Amino acid sequence: MIRLPGLIDPHVHVREPGQTHKEDWDTATSAALAGGVTMILAMPNTKPPIFDYSTLDLALASAKEKARCDYAQFVGAGPDNAEILPNLASKAAGLKMYLDSTFGELRLDDMTLWMPHFAKFPKDSPIVLHSESRTMAAGILFAAIYDRPVHIAHISLKEEVLLIKAAKEKGIKVTCEVCLHHLFLTAGGEPLTPNPFPYERIGDKGKGGRVEVRPRLATQEDINALWSNMDVIDCFATDHAPHTIEEKDSDNSPPGFPGLETLLPLLLTAVSESRLSISDIIQKSVTNPRKIFHLPEQPETWVEVDENAEYMIKAVNQFTRCGWTPFEGWRVKGKVRKVVLRGRTAFEDGKILVEKGYGRNVRESQR
Ligand SMILES: [Zn+2]
Repeated sequence: MIRLPGLIDPHVHVREPGQTHKEDWDTATSAALAGGVTMILAMPNTKPPIFDYSTLDLALASAKEKARCDYAQFVGAGPDNAEILPNLASKAAGLKMYLDSTFGELRLDDMTLWMPHFAKFPKDSPIVLHSESRTMAAGILFAAIYDRPVHIAHISLKEEVLLIKAAKEKGIKVTCEVCLHHLFLTAGGEPLTPNPFPYERIGDKGKGGRVEVRPRLATQEDINALWSNMDVIDCFATDHAPHTIEEKDSDNSPPGFPGLETLLPLLLTAVSESRLSISDIIQKSVTNPRKIFHLPEQPETWVEVDENAEYMIKAVNQFTRCGWTPFEGWRVKGKVRKVVLRGRTAFEDGKILVEKGYGRNVRESQR
């Protein structure tokens, strides 16, 4: 048995308000606990999007009623809310800016729309960018011009990790996260080489829509670059983005994978393969996210894992409402046995043991 600190996932789509048939604050935070995650940062591209006082209150009210692990909620940058967002900064996880097209309505096509957000959002509150490839380069330029930190969500490409490395070497305040699916799945769901997991190709299931995710799954060369520049990567994130299995297998498959419950088993399997160390997990899933997003420590909080337990990932055993996982049938080594959150056993042997509403808004305790 290994005891780890509670993990922080800085990138989760809870889907509430508005799309609770996919997920809600109850199922998302139950999935988090089952994956050894004791704190999630929730993204704002819900329906409605979280972008002002009333929508932030709406999301936080649902969270307060239903969350079983701790959390904070991002606000989203829109074309005309840069004036009011600084007033919400202390209540929010940070500001999320969608600079490339993705799922949802928050979008900033024109760089003149980025400027007021960079100018006005407090420098000690996090800004997270969904920005791919050359858009990411523009985002890093903004960090340099406005001399403020930015965090790049879900990097997936060789050119991205190499540019972030170069920017860090120049002293630009940029950090980044990588998602597990971008470390373990190549384009089309083809096997990674060498493949540490005997698994089924996700593209073989359904109508092929299951591989849809943004950023898209990348090439073997990209994956190799991520693994060989692991020191450049600050955080692991799931980008847990549940859509139901019926939606994924429809003709118009929405992009996104669930990921909370498979995070720690995949990381521990990588440890068993000597691709990662336990201290990498603690650094990128606890220490660094805490620092980057100014998150409080969680007292009396830990995760017990059986690092030798081997099992097969199956969607039927998951708490997420979406009913599928891109890692269905994968053999993993390393199982979450028990999660203790602020002195109470929150998860043990497959069961959630804390009630809805046990989770706390970590920004509230910081005010
Ligand atoms: Zn996302």
